[in-house]
Amino acid sequence: MTQLNIKELLRGDGALPFACEVDPAGLEFPSILRYASPLTASGSVRSSAGLLTLTGEVRVSLRCRCDRCGREYAWEYAGALDTVLVTEHQDEEDPDVFLVQDDCVDLEEIVTTAFVLGLDSKTLCRPDCKGVCPRCGHNLNDGPCACRPEADSPFAVLGQLLNDNED
Ligand SMILES: [Zn+2]
Ligand SMILES: [Zn+2]
Repeated sequence: MTQLNIKELLRGDGALPFACEVDPAGLEFPSILRYASPLTASGSVRSSAGLLTLTGEVRVSLRCRCDRCGREYAWEYAGALDTVLVTEHQDEEDPDVFLVQDDCVDLEEIVTTAFVLGLDSKTLCRPDCKGVCPRCGHNLNDGPCACRPEADSPFAVLGQLLNDNED
């Protein structure tokens, strides 16, 4: 059940805690190999001076493929939920504003939207991933490959100079 009834908050100020799980099936991204857990979210909806806000956190365990080196890695995703709820739609385009319908908030929509928007454009196995050697394909996070000494040779430097002159 991912519909949260907030009827009592529509009558006056207050706060209502929530916790839910959302099945990530259908949320497919090239760099996500699989979901190792459902999306779990918790937080609260607050009503204050006529303004409805939902804040909290969403977590999920992911198996991803590194965009730079191609290695599979685990990612414990954690992102913030911070949205405004409205009873009448004002701006369809605003991704941070959600509509209350029949006194209910669609937590699944809010949680999945926050998760999708919170995904980094690049998923890396580590922030300083060194990638792979363009020549032999060796994963440089495991240390230098056999190509390296050659790249540092005077001939490689000469080749670099020639390349620079071509620009
Ligand atoms: Zn990597
Ligand atoms: Zn190499």
